[in-house]
Amino acid sequence: MARYIFITGGVVSSLGKGLASAALGALLQARGFSVRLRKLDPYLNVDPGTMSPFEHGEVFVTDDGAETDLDLGHYERFTGVAARKTDSISSGRVYSTVLEKERRGDYLGKTIQVIPHVTNEIKDFINIGDDEVDFMLCEIGGTVGDIEGLPFFEAIRQFSQDKPRGQCIFMHLTLLPFIKASGELKTKPTQHSVKELRSIGIAPDILVCRSEGPIPAKEREKLALFCNVRPEAVIAAQDLSTIYDAPLAYHREGMDQAVLDAFQISPAPKPDLSKWEDVSDRIHNTDGEVKVAIVGKYTQLEDAYKSIAEALTHGGMANRVRVKVEWVDAELFDKEDPAPHLEGFHAILVPGGFGERGTEGKIKAAEFARTRKVPYLGICLGMQMAVIEAARNVAGLATAGSEEFDHEAGKKRFEPVVYHLKEWVQGNHKVERKVGDDKGGTMRLGAYDATLLEGSRVADIYGTTSIDERHRHRYEVDIKYREQLEEAGLCFSGMSPDGRLPEIIEWSDHPWFIGVQFHPELKSKPFAPHPLFEDFVRAAKDASRLV
Ligand code: GLN
Repeated sequence: MARYIFITGGVVSSLGKGLASAALGALLQARGFSVRLRKLDPYLNVDPGTMSPFEHGEVFVTDDGAETDLDLGHYERFTGVAARKTDSISSGRVYSTVLEKERRGDYLGKTIQVIPHVTNEIKDFINIGDDEVDFMLCEIGGTVGDIEGLPFFEAIRQFSQDKPRGQCIFMHLTLLPFIKASGELKTKPTQHSVKELRSIGIAPDILVCRSEGPIPAKEREKLALFCNVRPEAVIAAQDLSTIYDAPLAYHREGMDQAVLDAFQISPAPKPDLSKWEDVSDRIHNTDGEVKVAIVGKYTQLEDAYKSIAEALTHGGMANRVRVKVEWVDAELFDKEDPAPHLEGFHAILVPGGFGERGTEGKIKAAEFARTRKVPYLGICLGMQMAVIEAARNVAGLATAGSEEFDHEAGKKRFEPVVYHLKEWVQGNHKVERKVGDDKGGTMRLGAYDATLLEGSRVADIYGTTSIDERHRHRYEVDIKYREQLEEAGLCFSGMSPDGRLPEIIEWSDHPWFIGVQFHPELKSKPFAPHPLFEDFVRAAKDASRLV
């Protein structure tokens, strides 16, 4: 049976609960335990798949095709444990399951209530895979006191009662604001937040307090006294210059020891932190900087491309350079020359995206990179735009475009080099989609195999010719145009195993120009940078040394 750690938040949102959970997961692994991390989100969307990236940040896709919260990305990056569909749940999902059961008559005519029907559904979810790991870490989204969060708090309270004593602990993350005028760290908001938690029956065992600086002994004791925790269980989570210092910093503060103490695990296994020491060393001891432009649409909110930014950092760590990312709005040069916006960068990355807005600018960015020999990585939409650029400007298909944009505009304007795929093969079964299907869940989602062309640049980078990567898209490059594009010099260096779906394209006569239909960024880790990002940053580093 797993031990459970419930992580809740108070005072304000965006305190980095996901990061604290992920770092704790990494620390428990460093002590030899197996872990799994889970996110319970109170919002009413069934999943984040249909939420705007402006609203919610990136959608993180799992191998088994779930569209989840970006915190699952943190979990994977810190623990290397691949997240699953069953690691993310929202109120929307819980209610839709409860209502489906009600319609089917599963409740035998009973009145359906939050307690016990909704809370039971949540508890069943938390319990999935109970026998697989030593520790299950469950993060509750939002802050204590939110109306939407109540069923989740009630469910975890009940859950800890259902399990044998000592099987569950509660960790609460709060903020200690520093008041400049009086030069003091204020503990009152934390006290109120813990009071709120206790009013719904949850007494935290560990407090993690975000603060700008260290917590003086006086405040620590005060927090322990008023919040009813041990002074050693008050963990300072000071602001860090990089998230990858979090495991070491929290370890120094005694977070993992406090957790083991709370479970009365003694003697505590000694931690091996060498992996995180290496990560920290690589991030702090760099030689030079490369500048990478991310040409996208959601440039105002960096979280919209969270995994890409992290994967670039990992690529920098592998090459011991700092990667300076600049977000360039593609719409700025939809109709203009992109050169003034893109000159001076050592590499260009065009990420995934949906809809036509900004795509002409992305096509121009691909053209700029191809003709100026600047390293280019196109991801998903970024690959599709590179193919359209090749079709229009090299293969002579002047009106090449994507069916996605025609669908959006409601009229036919383009030769559909990128088209809407309605059926495909996953593993050994066929998946079919109808045009009128719901917006949510109609995409090619999750891990698919690809076969790489022997001798291609990507085969060399991956060091193998068979890979699997995660997908999230509706449209595909049409192989009908393959021959024409190959004659123009574009190499189709990765294909689905049945040869129908282009997975990777590259320009062989270019220093580094690769487009991938999948999302390699989702699998990159600080201690195991994704090979494509590692080599892309290496190419950028070479470009920076040429200047
Ligand atoms: N909009 C494109 C499609 O659906 C690309 C999606 C993406 O970049 N994730 O195929």
